[in-house]
Amino acid sequence: MKYAESMVDLVGDTPLVKLNNVTKGLQATVLAKVEYFNPGGSVKDRIALRMIEAAERSGALKPGGTIVEPTSGNTGVGLAIVAQQKGYKCVFVCPDKVSTDKINVLRAYGAEVVVCPYAVAPEHPDSYYNVSDRLVREIPGAWKPDQYSNPENPASHYHSTGPELWQQTDGRITAFVAGVGTGGTISGTGRYLKDVSDGAVKVIGADPEGSVYSGGSGRPYLVEGVGEDFWPTAYDRTVADEIIAVSDKDSFLMTRRLAREEGLLVGGSCGMAVVAALEYAARLGPDDVVVVILPDSGRGYLSKIFNDDWMADYGFLNPGTEEPTVAEVF
Ligand code: PMP
Repeated sequence: MKYAESMVDLVGDTPLVKLNNVTKGLQATVLAKVEYFNPGGSVKDRIALRMIEAAERSGALKPGGTIVEPTSGNTGVGLAIVAQQKGYKCVFVCPDKVSTDKINVLRAYGAEVVVCPYAVAPEHPDSYYNVSDRLVREIPGAWKPDQYSNPENPASHYHSTGPELWQQTDGRITAFVAGVGTGGTISGTGRYLKDVSDGAVKVIGADPEGSVYSGGSGRPYLVEGVGEDFWPTAYDRTVADEIIAVSDKDSFLMTRRLAREEGLLVGGSCGMAVVAALEYAARLGPDDVVVVILPDSGRGYLSKIFNDDWMADYGFLNPGTEEPTVAEVF
């Protein structure tokens, strides 16, 4: 019989698929690593598993303990699945701007979700940073993974995503492109690919316009899961050869094209990463193999990126049509 012992054993080993239509006119091969094939639907299952197993080994997480993390998204889902399978409780702390759909997903997996006001300063006692710290102090056996500073976040990619890509491409990968959020994916995967290729593989970061990684001041943008207004320690500044900034509009229009033209219903950070991958691939020749990582599925964004009215409200589509608005010419 061919079966997995539990969903935890199905984390990683995600497929690579060639992009055939959005790549028209390019000479290089562009392959996408589709992370929504993970059990929790995103790349974050990888870090959840490794952070929890490392904490079990170090004794930071004891049998029956409680995982407390300020997260509303993909990391929470990964932690919730691994935690329930291993007998831990989860308490997630989210700001109240997070959609009820996302909160309901976490609750569906059996996690407790504490919702805090978004419109308060980080130092306010009710801010979600302070509430999560207080819960860690007050709940006996509590442990906070902290994906922004936990070295097991990039390590999970060094030991899984990187080796998978090297094997899947038979060592022919010449460039790796990833969006940067905590920086774990690009730092761990990029470092592995540089090590195994003696520095030959180029590592390219994709970042929302406005975020610090591409020189922005941290001004707001709409694409979710990537970009920061501070420098997390999970991000290794020495790995990326180049960071390409991508606008919300280009990210979302490409996200919609991936669904229509490649059969890939993926999230906005995927569209962003593909825009950067295509920009980089345009400079390359026929022997180049560019791999772009697609972190999650588009199901969580149906009422935003895949909703024409929402796109028109932000000026990305002409109202009542599916035509992109024309860029302003100055
Ligand atoms: N895209 C999405 C949707 C994410 O949730 C994340 C994780 N924050 C990323 C991209 C970026 O990954 P990383 O944190 O490893 O840089």
